[in-house]
Amino acid sequence: MASVFDDLVGQEHIIEILQAAAAASREGAQTQEMTHAWLFTGPPGSGRSSAAVAFAQSLICRSNGCGNCSDCNSAKTSGHPDVEIIRTEGLSIKVEEIRELLTRVAWAPSMGGWRVVVMEDADRVTDSAANALLKAIEESGTRTVWLLCAPTLHDVLPTIRSRCRHLQLRTPSIEAVTQVLINRDKISPDMALFAAKVSQGHIGRARYLATNEVARSNRKMIMQLPMQLGTLASALQAAQALVDIATEEAKTTSELRDEIEIKKLQEAYGQGATGRSMATGAAKAVKELEKEQKSRSTRMVRDSIDGALIDIATFYRDVVMVQSGNMESMINTDMRDEIESYASFYPEHSTILKINALMDARTNLAHSAAPLVTCEALMCQLVRK
Ligand SMILES: [Zn+2]
Repeated sequence: MASVFDDLVGQEHIIEILQAAAAASREGAQTQEMTHAWLFTGPPGSGRSSAAVAFAQSLICRSNGCGNCSDCNSAKTSGHPDVEIIRTEGLSIKVEEIRELLTRVAWAPSMGGWRVVVMEDADRVTDSAANALLKAIEESGTRTVWLLCAPTLHDVLPTIRSRCRHLQLRTPSIEAVTQVLINRDKISPDMALFAAKVSQGHIGRARYLATNEVARSNRKMIMQLPMQLGTLASALQAAQALVDIATEEAKTTSELRDEIEIKKLQEAYGQGATGRSMATGAAKAVKELEKEQKSRSTRMVRDSIDGALIDIATFYRDVVMVQSGNMESMINTDMRDEIESYASFYPEHSTILKINALMDARTNLAHSAAPLVTCEALMCQLVRK
């Protein structure tokens, strides 16, 4: 029988727990299985938010999370009155947003047993927002279930994580991702294997690469950067190229969406609107939206640069593998020649230093360092022998 959990790849160990909890909750049992605060952690792309949403569906659905009924469908898109999915477009979730959320979820569930809040980026709550959230989670006896998602346990305040039941998702295997791309997305086996391999088990990224030619050609350009580094000038050029590609990629994804959002908003105000106060209201709302969109695009550029840095890191990782005689586990098999020649030219310890520099740059970016300056500093470090 179809289930909302079918889409989770390589997460059998947690599906079992979630199904048991949903079943216990249906029987009305206040057992240990069913707690009202859960924390889903896992590396990017492991599907932590998909797991949380699937759980939300199975708590709401009257047929064990069938994935087909109107409850399942509306829960998935946050269109269900008892399910709220918080997706952060900005860099942080502020205390005002949490307070607003709390007033929305304060009343009892309208239809079934639970009101479910899925917070996709619980690691982005500010400290004061976390404290407001904590108060809500601590309140026992309510019919609200909190499903928080974060990359690791350390990304969430200890006070919050100690109150949650923790589920750790795994990075799905290359084989599992390949199979999903072939079976579900109808992608050719060769392309599926390539995309699964270079995406390192990040299923969303794998699908994006497998279905998007521009993304593949961008990736190719980025993967050539290590070979182009020789002089200081070339390092600065490479940094600029990386930021340009990432910005362009983020722009193509967001521009169309931004336009549609603005148009929708204007239409909402335009319908039956006359008089000056409506016009002022519309202008103000558009301005607010534009501010949000700007913050979202900043985040998208950062995410895109981060993805590029991870890609470049796999190049150096492959170089180390070759240098230590471990050829079979090469990720970028399409670049075998380049990797081997690089490996024969640079000493192993310098390659490891380069990987460290890449990881440092990612950390700095995550702490809001300026993208171009960060990339310039990084590329200069990648030049050395
Ligand atoms: Zn259903």
